[in-house]
Amino acid sequence: MIIVMKTGTSKAEIERVTQEIKTLHLTPELIIGEQKVVIGLVGDTASFSLERVQEISPWIEQVVRIEQPFKRTSLDFRNGEYSEVTVPTPNGDVIFGKNQPLVVVAGPCSVENEEMIVETALKVKASGAKFLRGGAYKPRTSPYAFQGYGESALELLGAAREASGLGIITEVMDTADLDLVANYADIIQIGARNMQNFPLLKKVGSQEKPVLLKRGMSSTIDEWLMAAEYILAGSNSNVILCERGIRTFDSRYTRNTLDLSVIPVLRSLTHLPIMIDPSHGTGKSDYVPAMALGAIAAGTDALMIEVHPTPSKALSDGPQSLTPLAFDKLMKEMAIVGKAVKRW
Ligand code: PEP
Ligand code: MN
Repeated sequence: MIIVMKTGTSKAEIERVTQEIKTLHLTPELIIGEQKVVIGLVGDTASFSLERVQEISPWIEQVVRIEQPFKRTSLDFRNGEYSEVTVPTPNGDVIFGKNQPLVVVAGPCSVENEEMIVETALKVKASGAKFLRGGAYKPRTSPYAFQGYGESALELLGAAREASGLGIITEVMDTADLDLVANYADIIQIGARNMQNFPLLKKVGSQEKPVLLKRGMSSTIDEWLMAAEYILAGSNSNVILCERGIRTFDSRYTRNTLDLSVIPVLRSLTHLPIMIDPSHGTGKSDYVPAMALGAIAAGTDALMIEVHPTPSKALSDGPQSLTPLAFDKLMKEMAIVGKAVKRW
């Protein structure tokens, strides 16, 4: 349930209303929008009628029941106002949001050595990326596949951050590693395979670093948004949703089916910013540019693209990685589409 206050309501009256809500054993959450103040009511609101809540103050314009199972994540909870996630980086704040320029994240699947990560960082930065991605802890299907270099890879990401000024996005797989990963990451990634790892979601929800939540490979949109709700239900509302392709019946030509229709669907359901990952979405470097351009046209707020100095020698995900040169070419094409939709 949310309460929309009338324009011009005094701070004292808003305070009085929030105090009264607490006496009903509900938690009030203040959302100060550009036009209106909205008070979200968290808790068991089922037993309260809209009329009962309306009676609390003559300054209440409207009381609305949120029908979806996800509350803080829903667009209705913010009365239709989209949220932004602001991330400080050495090169300045980068803002993810519907009314902001497109943010591009690029880098290798895995951090392999200092030379390759620093070289990639400098190159993708020169092409216009704002974040460097790179895995230190890798979720691999086979226990015999390269698992990532762990803490030493985090240190190399730190070196690349210092050399380039780019923000860092890297994945955490285990609650035990969270503090360490948070020391190096500007955004913490929860991978597709951990989208419903509830202890991990709770733990990233209880710390301050922004979170990139990838969609599980067989997850519905509702399951994905409920996973985001776990993070928002902590105290962390800085969540970005990343579509990275889902399992469908046909995986002969692409690794996954990139669901670009999530962009308008998510826009109708949630206020959270949206990222698209066409690299894991297609699994083939040749198909990445078309999907990246399509995602921009469809209104994504950000893109994540795997880039490796020598894809044929990559320790993971080489077939879907672009060379720095191909990435630079793609950035120029993305600028054309981005400008057309006023996101560049
Ligand atoms: C990755 O970003 O390298 C990764 C493993 O992604 P996903 O969790 O989407 O498979
Ligand atoms: Mn990868």
